[in-house]
Amino acid sequence: MRRPVIAGNWKLNKTVSEAVELISALKPVVKDAAAEVVICPTAICLTEAVSAVGGTNIGVGAQNMFHKDSGAFTGEISPVFLKAANVEYVILGHSERRQYFKETDADINKKVIAALNHGLKPILCIGETLEEREGGTTFEVITTQIDGSMADMKEMNLDNLIIAYEPVWAIGTGKTATKEDANEVIGFIRKLLRERFGDKVADATRILYGGSVKASNAKELMEMPEIDGALVGGASLDVNEFANIVNY
Ligand code: PEP
Repeated sequence: MRRPVIAGNWKLNKTVSEAVELISALKPVVKDAAAEVVICPTAICLTEAVSAVGGTNIGVGAQNMFHKDSGAFTGEISPVFLKAANVEYVILGHSERRQYFKETDADINKKVIAALNHGLKPILCIGETLEEREGGTTFEVITTQIDGSMADMKEMNLDNLIIAYEPVWAIGTGKTATKEDANEVIGFIRKLLRERFGDKVADATRILYGGSVKASNAKELMEMPEIDGALVGGASLDVNEFANIVNY
C-alpha cells in the first residue's frame, strides 16, 4: 500500500512570522489525517517551520536546492544544510524552476541524486506544457523528463523518491486535469518506472498529481487508483482549504 502524500508548495509566499502563524492554525486541523502531510515554505522559513511543526504529523520540505554540498555557490542552499536543519523533503524540478530559472533535466538529475544520497525525500516534478499536450506529445515529453531527470539512478535506493505529475497548463490556472487524464499519465509514469527500475520501485513510488487541486476536486482525484496524493500550490496557503484537501 502506498501511503498518500499531500504536500503544500507555498512558493514565494509567507514571511517567517506568517509561516509560523499558518502552521499554528494548520496543526489542529490536519492532526488526524490519514495522508502524510508536508509543507514547503521558502528557504528562509525552514528552520522556524521545523520548530513550529515539532511533535506533529506535519513534515517540512524545501522548494529547491543545489546539488553540491558547500562551496563558492552564492545564493544556494544544499542537501547538507537541509539535513542539518532537519528538513525532510525537497521539491525538485518544479515547472517554475524550469521556466524562470532555466533548470534542465540534467540539472534536476544531479539534484535528485544528491537529495537521495543525503537521505532527503525529493519530490521530483514533471509535466507537459499546453502546447505539448495540444500537439499530442505528452507521453514523449514525460518519457524524456523521466529519462533525463532519473539518469544514472538504476543502482540507487529509490525508497525516498516521490514524483509529482504537474501538467504546466494546470498550475495556478484554475484548470485541473480531468481525473481520468491525470490517472492515465500517472499510470504511464509508473509503467516507465517498471520498465527502467523494476517492479519494486514502480509499486512503491508515490506519484502525486499537481495543478489547481482544491478541496472541491481533491476527493475525486485521490480516488483514482494511480494517484497517490497531491502537490498543492495556491490552495495550500488557505488553512481551511488545505485542511479539507488533506482530509479528503
Ligand atoms: C504547484 O505549484 O505545484 C501547483 C500545483 O500550484 P497550484 O495548485 O496553484 O496549481
